[in-house]
Amino acid sequence: MLPYETLEDATVSLGRNLTLAEILWFQYSARKSDYILFCHNALFFFILYTIFPLPYMILELMRSEKIDKYKLQPNVKNSLADMLDGYRKFLYIFLPVVLPLQIFSCSTLKNIGIRTGLPLPSRSEIFWQLLVYFVIEDYAHYWLHRLSHHKWFYEKIHQVHHEYTAPIGFVAPYAHWAEFIIGGSATLCGPMLVPGHIITFWLYLILREMESIETHSGYDFPWSPTKYIPFYGGAVFHDYHHFVGGKTQSNFAPMFTYCDYIYGTDKGYRYMKKFEKTREKLKEK
Ligand SMILES: [Zn+2]
Ligand SMILES: [Zn+2]
Repeated sequence: MLPYETLEDATVSLGRNLTLAEILWFQYSARKSDYILFCHNALFFFILYTIFPLPYMILELMRSEKIDKYKLQPNVKNSLADMLDGYRKFLYIFLPVVLPLQIFSCSTLKNIGIRTGLPLPSRSEIFWQLLVYFVIEDYAHYWLHRLSHHKWFYEKIHQVHHEYTAPIGFVAPYAHWAEFIIGGSATLCGPMLVPGHIITFWLYLILREMESIETHSGYDFPWSPTKYIPFYGGAVFHDYHHFVGGKTQSNFAPMFTYCDYIYGTDKGYRYMKKFEKTREKLKEK
């Protein structure tokens, strides 16, 4: 809730005119408690995982030779029932784990210093904070994921996420509840170290969730805007991790490729890419 009664009060307090984004933010948030604003995280999570995988689901139902060019494991065909089962698995993790966790962690988000008031952050502040959040999370997640492939951890916890050797977008968050909580702490590392505005935090969660759906979609499109992000692994990188399955010691980082390159855990993947390239060249001859 903002500490101003009117827009004029906010203008006087900031000592300047509000930008259009700040006026809109004032109108949206002035009468909402911080608790309600922090609860938006669960709402975004639900909406994104319900809507964003739908185009991939339609593609899967319309499978043809043209579409198969972009399917990472073209031998795998999912029926409508398979995909509805994937959505059921999303609800299985959302309702008893994500929803209560996000609702009960609202005070934590406030305590780590995420602010909800005015002024809004500048575009450069948002950009640099997002970059820091993604780099920190990628690094933390790399090690947690690598650890989760040790025998005990894998058998007790991580194998739930590996139920799908050819994943679909709906099952991106499908995991053991303990893995979800541990993974969530990696997501919070960046905002804890460099706390920012809730708008930046929302953007971070939305982009992270969209990235997770894309990397589990089973499709790789050459025109995807994510291809322009340096070191971005994308669907092809993470799909390989699922394809190899529990015994894999490859492609642990969730977003970028450099951790696996630096620590030598992408050798199998690179060998496969090299093999595919050579095969394509031979076909062209
Ligand atoms: Zn794994
Ligand atoms: Zn996965």
